[in-house]
Amino acid sequence: HLIYSDQVLSIIAKTPAEVDILRNMSTQHETVLWQPASARHIKPDTEVHLYIPKHHVQNVTDLLKTHLLAHRVLLQDTQELIAMQTRNHTSDPRSSETFYERYHSLEDIYYWINRTITDNPDRAKVILIGSSYEKRPLYVLKLSGRKSNDAKKAMWIDCGIHARDDCIGTDLNRNFDANWCTEGASDYPCEEIYCGQFPESEPESRAVANFLRSHKDTVKLYFSIHSYSQMLLFPYSCSYEQAQNHDELLALVQEAAQNIRRYYRNQYKYGAGAKTIYLAPGGSDDWAYKMGIEYSFTFELQDRGTYGFLLPPSYITKASKEAALAVKGITLRVIQKKQWASPPQS
Ligand SMILES: [Zn+2]
Repeated sequence: HLIYSDQVLSIIAKTPAEVDILRNMSTQHETVLWQPASARHIKPDTEVHLYIPKHHVQNVTDLLKTHLLAHRVLLQDTQELIAMQTRNHTSDPRSSETFYERYHSLEDIYYWINRTITDNPDRAKVILIGSSYEKRPLYVLKLSGRKSNDAKKAMWIDCGIHARDDCIGTDLNRNFDANWCTEGASDYPCEEIYCGQFPESEPESRAVANFLRSHKDTVKLYFSIHSYSQMLLFPYSCSYEQAQNHDELLALVQEAAQNIRRYYRNQYKYGAGAKTIYLAPGGSDDWAYKMGIEYSFTFELQDRGTYGFLLPPSYITKASKEAALAVKGITLRVIQKKQWASPPQS
């Protein structure tokens, strides 16, 4: 029968030979590996999520059957899901109360940043830190308390660093200077985990690194928000070594995961990156940690693979609330420990 839409398959290899077949399949055919990030991370008894263009679905499925590889269809109708992510809305996309229940264009996000600083001149500021590969401005939105003349401690949050929907170029989360381009990254530009030509070779990672370097005494917490797989991670990802405050970081993410389970009935894995997923050198959280930001985290948001990178807009609110709960819980704990909070002002 005819297949009208791209599909995402979940496949599990049982033996080393099956792992090889799957590795070949994900690199040689025109497929996109969603999980794990690279074919070399495929191992026995672990779910592999593979995006397959419609013209290849039949081929790939036949191959899987020939080799008796266990698989199931994760996503049947990707076209509809992609349409949901990019759909144009008839009403003004910027003003309706459903703003946070939709995906937005970069133009809309710029507009939103502008409106935020205009509406809140006393607590929001925008800082230009560089320009992207496509020569678009890179902004930091700085939020502060109303009376913040005295230098306060700060936290940094970045989101969506991988931009896997583009699937071209350097993985920015392999481009930072933390055991750069060692095992778990690739120096081959066609790979999803390509580390770039040298650490901070890309304008985006360089801009972030420069900004954080020049504010390293102020920034005490670092959060990088990614998708997908529902995990709360901390250093290291670039080696199996334990971070010097490993137990403290572990306790923080454990509590955050418990809170998410309690409030939202959702399960998050947690732990040091390399041990929880696999080696991933050159990540921004490890780099920030090595520079001296001792509370450094990467969150992988919803879901665990049902929709993967094509999470429907109706899930945005819950995914964001879970992340916000974790950020807030961890931050308040750290403030308590370190007593950075300035005394209440009258
Ligand atoms: Zn990630």
